[in-house]
Amino acid sequence: MFTRRHLLGAAAAVAAGATHLAGQTVGAAKPVRPVVLSTWRHGLAANEAAWKILSSGGRALDAVEAGARITESDPNVLTVGYGGLPDRDGNVTLDACLMDEKGDCGSVAYLQHIEHPISVARRVMETTPHVMLVGEGALKFALENGFKKKELLTDRAKQEWEKWKTDHPDAVKERQVNVENHDTIGIVAIDAQGNLSGACTTSGMAWKLNGRVGDSPIIGAGLYVDNEVGAATATGVGEAVIRAVGSFLVVEFMRQGHSPQDACRLATERVVEKNPDWKQLQVGFIALDKRGRVGGYCLQPGFDYAVYDQSGGNRMVKSKSRVAL
Ligand code: ASP
Repeated sequence: MFTRRHLLGAAAAVAAGATHLAGQTVGAAKPVRPVVLSTWRHGLAANEAAWKILSSGGRALDAVEAGARITESDPNVLTVGYGGLPDRDGNVTLDACLMDEKGDCGSVAYLQHIEHPISVARRVMETTPHVMLVGEGALKFALENGFKKKELLTDRAKQEWEKWKTDHPDAVKERQVNVENHDTIGIVAIDAQGNLSGACTTSGMAWKLNGRVGDSPIIGAGLYVDNEVGAATATGVGEAVIRAVGSFLVVEFMRQGHSPQDACRLATERVVEKNPDWKQLQVGFIALDKRGRVGGYCLQPGFDYAVYDQSGGNRMVKSKSRVAL
């Protein structure tokens, strides 16, 4: 029975900062902020750039964009921006999106020759009535907005591509879905004001068919932010993430009262349900809630993510996985 004592208890918890989610009172611990987290080891450098902004009181959106730009410029990251591995015809084609605390979002897909697709996505969000621009139109928009053309195919990426072609003479028939050839950066943050934003940027799956677009620039799949609840982003085989509308699903699980960690696990279970070939795939999610709690989960062992907050500094966290080591 729900007594007056329960009611008073619940009221006190709310006053102390607890949240009611789906009828459940979640603990009243003081929110942690700012916090930034991002996928894979390259997330450490991205977090550093984001933290500079967050620790001086800056906006989460500026922080995630700054973080994503670091990875986009790094030629040693073969899965994002400059230096990214090309499609099977040798084209480096980039996908990126971002989303802010107001629910505003911007996205580009199949963008070529531009080092910072994440900043083009932000320009789409801030200066056009649209969410998403693709291909030639996205390139034209970028050039009109002052972005400069750059050769994104580095010698190293070209050599890898040539080696791949030699090793895979029958490549056109192959489905490139193994756990090795992708590593997007997704980055989500909460700022000192308690506002959430996220960004996601990638060169997509290596050796993809020309024209292929993955989950990363698709709002709800590769990234989702709801400032009342939390933010989530995905990495791994984009087709599998799209089928589950993965990042939106993680946020919806948090809305129902699940911790970021559980929300990522439950969304991973949905990926399993929707993808009969899930044992051959890698998918990973990371999430952050409005109280600054973080979590991550993946299908196969090997996924990790970088977390930066005041008390713990910038560190790698090994993700739990559906398949045990
Ligand atoms: N999700 C990306 C894609 O499918 C790949 C990745 O995470 O690296 O394009």
